[in-house]
Amino acid sequence: MSTTNTNAPTPAPRNPGDEASPGAEQTGENTCPVCAGSGRDAASAPCPNCGGTGVVIVTVGDA
Ligand SMILES: [Zn+2]
Repeated sequence: MSTTNTNAPTPAPRNPGDEASPGAEQTGENTCPVCAGSGRDAASAPCPNCGGTGVVIVTVGDA
């Protein structure tokens, strides 16, 4: 019987389209430019850019 060690801390979920990790300062949600917020791609599969959420995390700080 094999048991997977799940002792590692879970990082904040982050999708390929995210510019920053969710919860980071000076970030916000923006409509995913790939799926236009639908969360689905052309094949009705979960959008690979936003992970199916329809939003991506973007940096909103005016640096
Ligand atoms: Zn998307």
